[in-house]
This record gives sequence, C-alpha cells and structure tokens, in this order.
Amino acid sequence: MHVRLRNPDREVTVDGPLTVADLLDHLDVLPHTVLVLHDGELVTGDRELPEDAEVEIRPVISGGANAAPRCADCSGPAVLEEPRHRAAWCAAHLPDHVERQIRKAIDHAPGMAQGERMFSYADRLLVTVSGGKDSLALWDALLAMGYRIDGLYVGLGIGGYSARSQQACEQFAADRDARLHVVDLAEEYGYAIPGGSAATGRATCGVCGLSKRYAFNKVAVDHGYDVVLTGHNLDDEAAILLGNVLRWQDQFLARQHPVLPASGANQVRKVKPLYRLSERETAAYCVVRGIDYVVEECPLVAGNTGHELKAALDTLEAASPGIKAQFLFGFLDRHADRFAEYASDGEAPALNDCDACGMPTTGSRCAFCRQRELILQSLPLAGAAMAGTADSVYA
Ligand code: SF4
Ligand SMILES: [Zn+2]
Ligand SMILES: [Zn+2]
Repeated sequence: MHVRLRNPDREVTVDGPLTVADLLDHLDVLPHTVLVLHDGELVTGDRELPEDAEVEIRPVISGGANAAPRCADCSGPAVLEEPRHRAAWCAAHLPDHVERQIRKAIDHAPGMAQGERMFSYADRLLVTVSGGKDSLALWDALLAMGYRIDGLYVGLGIGGYSARSQQACEQFAADRDARLHVVDLAEEYGYAIPGGSAATGRATCGVCGLSKRYAFNKVAVDHGYDVVLTGHNLDDEAAILLGNVLRWQDQFLARQHPVLPASGANQVRKVKPLYRLSERETAAYCVVRGIDYVVEECPLVAGNTGHELKAALDTLEAASPGIKAQFLFGFLDRHADRFAEYASDGEAPALNDCDACGMPTTGSRCAFCRQRELILQSLPLAGAAMAGTADSVYA
C-alpha cells in the first residue's frame, strides 16, 4: 500500500493487507498521536487496509505545528522529540518509552516463533559494557525491568580512554550494587589492542573485535550465563546493514540478526535488545537517568568505516525521518531469510574444541588463539606480563 506521512512529509510503500494498528506499529508511530485516513475517510485501528490502499497518516499536534513539543504520555513539556515516532517525551516518561522499545525487542524480535523471546526472567544475563551510553543504558534498563543481569568489561589497554571507560563501568556497578566482571587483555592474554594490532599488521578494530567476542563468550561459558547482550543500537545495525549490502557480503547478511542462537557446546546465545532505539534515544535516556557514561570515542576508531556509513544514513534520515528504521526493520522483517542459505555456504560446519583453549572452532585451533600466538611471537616480552587466568570480579 502507498502511505503518506505528514509533517514532515514522506511517502513509503508497505506490504499489505494490514490493519491500521499493525501499520502504525510497523512504522513506529504512536496511534494516539495521529489520524489515519484511507481514501480520504477516517479509519480506526481495527480496520484492515488492502494491499492497494492509499493511506495518509496525519499528526495531531495540539497547539499547532510550531508549539513546544509535549510528552506523548502526559502532555507535559518534552525533553526529547523523535520525528521517527512522531512523538516526544518528558524526562519522567522517556525511560518508559525506552523500556517499551526494549520490551518489544525482547518479546517480538523478527524471526522468532510466537511466544518465543530473546530471553526470560529465569535466564542469567551478561551484558558487555564499554562505559559508553548504549551498553550502560541497556544494563540500567534491564535492571529496572527486573532481569538477572551482570556486566562484563574488557580492558583493551587503549591508554586513558580504557582507564576512564573502566572507571565509568565500575562506578555504575558500585552505585547499583551490581556485579561487574573485568577481563584485562594484557593481564589475561599478554597483549593490549594497540600492540596487538601493530604486531599482526591487522586492522586495529579487527584485532579488537575478535578479542572482545572471544572474551564475551569465554566469561559467559566459564560463569554459566545463558545469554550475552550487547548494546548495538538502531544506528549501529543500520550502518552495518548498509556496509554489508554495499559489498554484498552474503554471509554477514545471513548473520545480521538481533538474536544469534548458540550453535554448539561452549557457545552462548547473543542478543541485541537495543536494535529498535537510536543513539539519540539511548544518550537521552542516560542523561535523564543520571548515568555518567564516557562521552569520548575510542581514539582508534579512525580505522572503522562504520562512521562514514552512519554519516551517510544520518543525511538520509534528516531528509526523510524514519528511513533508517525502515531500512533495518524492512530487512529483518521481510528479507533476512533470503540470505539464510549463505549462513555457512549451505552446510553447518562441524565444531571442534580448540586444542589450545577448548573453545569451539571449525578447525583445530580457534581464530583467537591463532591471533594471540601471532601477537606473542612478535611481542616476546608480552608473555612475561601475563598473570593468572581468573578474571577479577567487582560485586
Ligand atoms: S573503535 Fe575499534 S579499537 Fe576502538 S574499541 Fe571499537 S573496535 Fe576496538
Ligand atoms: Zn510525560
Ligand atoms: Zn582457542
């Protein structure tokens, strides 16, 4: 069907038939903030719209278009406007909006069977925290929602940035009496990210990403967690999707999903409950919740092309609010399955235990152990810096 959204104007095509309520839900528009017209006639939420419907969604803004935005929940003065939702929220109700979006992600992630969830209240959850806005917002929201959730910080050894990030995570945990695991790469594995990257000649973010993913899974397995959560938000996921589409990376597209099930022993399910929320929303959530997150970016981010992709999507979003969410949700809802056949070139490879660390691998030695050997060979003194094998825990 053809849908015209007003103020700001944009036009989209949506597969039908759909009820008005489902259409608004699909477009992330709050029903009580708009009127819906089908062929010029007002229609209610239960009305089914045919595939060829001409629909207009018209905002209802009390006080006129130039009035100060009001909270969608209480009509009080708003602190955050989201053109994508055609709504705004006050400081008291912004956390409710964030929790509603997280709840929707947990209970209705695309591709999951009816009644299936990302995780339940019985699961032991481990959220990986960097000290930045997204992961701390996620931890805070899930604690507030009553989940059993601990944190994991991986020390990357990136100078003052890492020190400040660790401090922010420790302070967050201490303030809430929450449990934080800390794994320091240099202490645990004998190298830090800047030296590791230089030693291998590999891209910094590639060495870092492999190290972090390994540590997340290892701590989760060693401590018996059921699910690992990361703070990837809508902007992150849309940028990753754009990068994967631009290069037609079929195998990456096959794995781009907010829920990645464990595919064997010593693997833990990985989920992204913030995929419905923008960076602006998570940052504003941190501000109204008093979360003291690290605002600075990793100084090594220059090697990461994600920033250019985000900038390109921001340009499109400014011209057409909601386009970013449409891009990501449209892929997840309707097109992700088409890439399933590329998940592993058609056949699931057999998994073995790594002969060095015991973690799952398709060969005899896992990618992390191979990378670490390469680094330690080039950094002969690094081995001497190694200490213990148990991660420290701040409770
Ligand atoms: S920007 Fe790159 S090096 Fe820095 S934390 Fe992220 S992945 Fe690691
Ligand atoms: Zn309010
Ligand atoms: Zn290994």
